Amino acid sequence: MLSTTDLLSPFRVTDGAKFRLKQMDAGDTLGLESDSKDEAPELLAQGIKRLSELQERLYAQDRWAVLLIFQAMDAAGKDSTIKHVMSGVNPQGVEVTAFKQPSPEELDHDFLWRCTRRLPERGRIGIFNRSYYEEVLVVRVHPEILAAQKVPPELVTKRLWDERFQDIRAVERYLARNGTVIRKFFLHVSKKEQRKRFLARIDEPEKNWKFALADVHERQHWKDYMGAYEDAIRETATKHAPWFVVPADKKWFTRIVVAAAVVEALEELDLQFPKVDARQRAELRAARALLERQG
Ligand code: ATP
Ligand code: MG
Repeated sequence: MLSTTDLLSPFRVTDGAKFRLKQMDAGDTLGLESDSKDEAPELLAQGIKRLSELQERLYAQDRWAVLLIFQAMDAAGKDSTIKHVMSGVNPQGVEVTAFKQPSPEELDHDFLWRCTRRLPERGRIGIFNRSYYEEVLVVRVHPEILAAQKVPPELVTKRLWDERFQDIRAVERYLARNGTVIRKFFLHVSKKEQRKRFLARIDEPEKNWKFALADVHERQHWKDYMGAYEDAIRETATKHAPWFVVPADKKWFTRIVVAAAVVEALEELDLQFPKVDARQRAELRAARALLERQG
């Protein structure tokens, strides 16, 4: 059976300088087959179970917060990965926020504003389905979006993207120093597999609702998007906020890797249920005595 290290080290980026997206294979499964005896389903089931145990401790201990960021091209499987990986956790301890095109209110603020409002509390897991990274991805690919943002023109210079990367690095370092554990996932789907999934959305009636013509136009910018993703990962991968470039052509494999990465992050925290001290134990004994007298 593959270990957590086997599953994660090929896909983890903590130092962007050496990262090249071209070297990553969207179809990689580390030699696993979806039906390979029971190994693949077993790995996912194990991950989900462990995650559920750890989340209970995270919540009870109420010290660390966990922020999981998901970025990807359309149809890479963000939604279904989140759904499957989180299927065992207590919904009270998790909040998922999907960031779409910004509203007028959101555009009236700095680019991190809408995301910082949804950061997880201590004891909670916050999931960003898209995030402030869109500000160096879609906005970079479509400069007209930037023009519609209300940034004072004097501040829009050649250095803008570098400044955004700097700000993202700074905010992630700040969060990490304050007890938010950050893990970032780029679900790496190939252009060919995306086409297949779009066609399925057209051909299968129950998938029709997921189809958006705009997504087909967007894929014409594939190369630019890959360039922007590579840059974003190179500029913002750090030890305390690593990226995982997760192969996404096989959905079952994506889920195994993401579950393993979240489990690993929680395992590193040494999460313990709060200890009960002598005074609290005395209180519990007194409460028991009271309940017994009350009958
Ligand atoms: P799905 O299509 O699976 O429902 P999605 O995450 O693609 O999920 P959409 O409703 O398609 O959701 O909307 C997201 C769109 O909003 C994406 O195209 C994304 O690039 C865009 N978007 C997100 N943040 C910003 C931003 N800050 N500025 C401009 N566009 C953004
Ligand atoms: Mg979409």
